Amino acid sequence: MNIILLGPPGAGKGTQANVLVEHHGMLQLSTGDMLRETRKADTELGRRVAAVMDAGELVSDEIVSAMIDTKLGEMGDDVGAIFDGYPRTAAQAHSLDEILAKHGRKLAVVIELGVDEDALVDRITGRFTCANCGAGYHDRHKQPAIAGVCDKCGSTEFKRRPDDTEETVRTRMAEYRAKTAPILPIYEERGIVQRVDGMAAIGDVTKAIEKVLASA
Ligand code: AMP
Repeated sequence: MNIILLGPPGAGKGTQANVLVEHHGMLQLSTGDMLRETRKADTELGRRVAAVMDAGELVSDEIVSAMIDTKLGEMGDDVGAIFDGYPRTAAQAHSLDEILAKHGRKLAVVIELGVDEDALVDRITGRFTCANCGAGYHDRHKQPAIAGVCDKCGSTEFKRRPDDTEETVRTRMAEYRAKTAPILPIYEERGIVQRVDGMAAIGDVTKAIEKVLASA
């Protein structure tokens, strides 16, 4: 099964994708994660990607679609794909149709995570992760049980995304409204959009998504 998780930054796409990977053995294809790898490299492309991401703007359609094409080519045919943060523009949505057809895959469902924008700014600007195992925490809502020590692996190193500042988050939201939300009608016309309340507790969002998948 191939699915898209759609929603503004901070809606919980990555969190829910992680759960689906664990429960269903699907693979998460996050263009944000792929670009974070790309920006680490001391190359012209790495520097260009870093500048665009730190401004909260979108990286070019060609770059991200090529990444998705490559990843799907490397995956086993029997493994389902969770598209997280892709597509983000109409051009990417059209590319995805072509890429899926090329790899003999079909889109089962687009899950739209509905959220409140002001709450998202609070969510995003407070979030941090364990630098060792990636466990997620939050300044105001989910501190580790022992301050400064990861609950899961005991590491004392944590990191924050450089694009999780309030100013960048506002730009990322504006990009979502202007370029990503308008792709929903493409999928609505096909009757494959399901809306889930992304403001509910993480476990309840997972339950709602599982229900959607069971009937997809
Ligand atoms: P994310 O981790 O999905 O929030 O993405 C972080 C940043 O990476 C975004 O703000 C964009 O700058 C860039 N990015 C991620 N996915 C895409 C995409 N599909 N198209 C363009 N830019 C992207």
